[in-house]
Parts: sequence; C-alpha cells; structure tokens
Amino acid sequence: MEIVAFLSGCMIWIPITIMVVSLVHWLIAGEVDLISGLSGIWFCIWLGFIALRPPDPVYSPLVLIVAIATCVAYPFVRQGMIQREHRKIEITELERAYDSLAQRRDNPIAIFRIACQLYTLGFPGHALKIAESALTRMPVATFRNEHMKVKNWQSMRIDPVQFQALPCPDCGTANDPGLIFCHQCQKPYLLNRLRGGFFRGTNGKKVLAGWGALVTLCLILPLTSSLPPAAAIAAIVISFGLAAAALIAAFRPLVTT
Ligand SMILES: [Zn+2]
Repeated sequence: MEIVAFLSGCMIWIPITIMVVSLVHWLIAGEVDLISGLSGIWFCIWLGFIALRPPDPVYSPLVLIVAIATCVAYPFVRQGMIQREHRKIEITELERAYDSLAQRRDNPIAIFRIACQLYTLGFPGHALKIAESALTRMPVATFRNEHMKVKNWQSMRIDPVQFQALPCPDCGTANDPGLIFCHQCQKPYLLNRLRGGFFRGTNGKKVLAGWGALVTLCLILPLTSSLPPAAAIAAIVISFGLAAAALIAAFRPLVTT
C-alpha cells in the first residue's frame, strides 16, 4: 500500500499539470472568471499535495483515479462548451434578423433569415412554416436558393411534435407554427424561449463548481469505511445523490422546446 501511495503521489502530477494548464487556458480565453479559475488551480494543486502526503495511504491512488477521470472527461465537457458557444453565435444571428424587421415587419428576406436560424437552433417545424409564408413573396427566379432550401426541408421527415403550438414565455399564449411574434403580446416569443434556455445553461464557472463538488464527494467516501455498514451505505447514497444533483445542475441541457 505504501508503494502504491508513493507511486500515485508521483504520477498524480501528470494529470494535475494537464488540469492546471487547461485552467490557465480557460482563464486566458476568458471562459471562466478570475476567482473561479484561480480557485480551480489552487484546488488541483491541493489535490496533488493530498496524494503526496495523504492523511491515509488510500487517498493517493484515489486522488490519482479522480484526476485521471477528470482528464478523460475533459474533452467531452470541452466539446459541450464549444457547442454552447456556437449556439450563442446562432442566437445572436437570430437577434440581428429580428432587429432588421424593426424597419419593416413584413420584410420577407428578414423573415426568411429568421426561419433559417430557427431551423439551425432546433425549431424545424416553426422554421418551415415561417419560411413557406415568406417564400410566397419571394419569386423563384430571384430566390432560387431559398426555394431549394425549403424544398429540402420539406423532404426531411420533421417530427410532428415540432409542429405543435409553443407557449410565449412572456404571456403564456400558445402560438401556432408560422408566427414570428406572439399573437397576444407581440413579443418575439421564439427568440425569448431560446434566450431563456441559453441563460439558464452551463458556463465554465458551473462546470468547475460541479467538478469540485464531485471530487470533494469522492474524497469523503473513504471516510465512510469507519462507519457502521447501514450508516456507510446511507452516506454513500446521499453523497452520490448530491454529486448527481451538482452535475445535473451544471450540465443541464439547453431548453429548446
Ligand atoms: Zn406573448
């Protein structure tokens, strides 16, 4: 056990270095605020010292496993964060398209742009109905590409669920596909739904917080071995429940429908 602890205490610095470098990268890229980033770095280094001078030899391999698991999970979390960033750009594009309607509310080209963004952002049914209505005022001779795009959408099998009315987040009125503004309060209900989903979502700070909670729980678990079996099982179940809750809160998918 002593040898395992010693080796783990040495090897831990490989994943710790990867984690610290990644966090520095996040900080430079502005994906995480200074306090969260520095806390994360401090936490990683502290983990390294726990593995090096563990309060109990079992902690060294445990911390090593936790650190390696973090490095394995990292690319997936990163991918999720990049997808979010793309989505943020798509939502900004949708906002611009809505802004260009300010001058003329029935501008078919701006309406078509809104439909394209809605299609990308996961509202294919509503996008198709909006695009079809815009196309009635866009002659095929001039807007060949637009007509082809909509033909392509029509040939896809769009889930009938996508054609259901969606409630406006502001007034609660259900709006049938084809409407750009809520027919009750005139607000851009689809855009507001997407914005709501975005701002409730994940960011670097939440990912770090979720990870910190999970790691702390992993380190608490060995302490349960000194408890009576029933209490230990209860403590383990509660710990996993809390960790799962922290992760669900941090990684909750975007609300799009
Ligand atoms: Zn409304």
